[in-house]
Amino acid sequence: MEETCGRIVEELSRRYAIDSRRFIGLLARGNLFELLVAVVLSQNTSDRNAIRAFENLKGKLGVITPETVASLSIEELAELIRPAGLHAQRARRIKEIAEALKGRLQEFEARIRELDAADAREVLKQFHGVGDKTADVILLVYFGKKVFPVDTHIKRITQRLGFVKSGSYREISGFWSKCLPPEKYLEAHLLLIEHGRQTCRARRPLCGECPLRDLCEFYRNAGSK
Ligand code: SF4
Repeated sequence: MEETCGRIVEELSRRYAIDSRRFIGLLARGNLFELLVAVVLSQNTSDRNAIRAFENLKGKLGVITPETVASLSIEELAELIRPAGLHAQRARRIKEIAEALKGRLQEFEARIRELDAADAREVLKQFHGVGDKTADVILLVYFGKKVFPVDTHIKRITQRLGFVKSGSYREISGFWSKCLPPEKYLEAHLLLIEHGRQTCRARRPLCGECPLRDLCEFYRNAGSK
């Protein structure tokens, strides 16, 4: 299976140019709190809108820390992140995280670093709005833990290829974790999302132009009908 997964990454990297300056990857170089803010801003919106919201916030605060964000009112915060959409809800979530980490970001970061991936995931998930995928993105890109984050595109593609039948997050994440080397996780994660957006779309996937069709159960089954 490792060979097949390796081929998938190769095929997809020939087809899609992954922007190395991509929002989350870019922010992984900032502090952990910036990354948490970034992932809350980037859920269910485009990178472009999330970046606009993030830049507004950065422009106002200079440095995005739990303390600077906690000093804003929910209304001020919501106005600054308006470009991301759902700004009132996101503002409440970000404010909650800021309050929880105020004065203890370093201690929190050190604790996550020490924990194994499963326990660290549970600690991150205590924040409202941080689910399995968001926690795993943070664990992978910021802490370098060996976890494979799965979003809705990756789930759909993995099921269509026939690699994992169930929609279980853990099974799908476990499948990709086992069949790729850890240094390929982030690239594969981003490429699969791009494949889901552009080709293996939820409705009317473009199977005729898909480089993975000879591996794909969905394509084989469609052809035999
Ligand atoms: S052949 Fe179709 S269903 Fe299969 S991975 Fe490609 S686009 Fe998706």
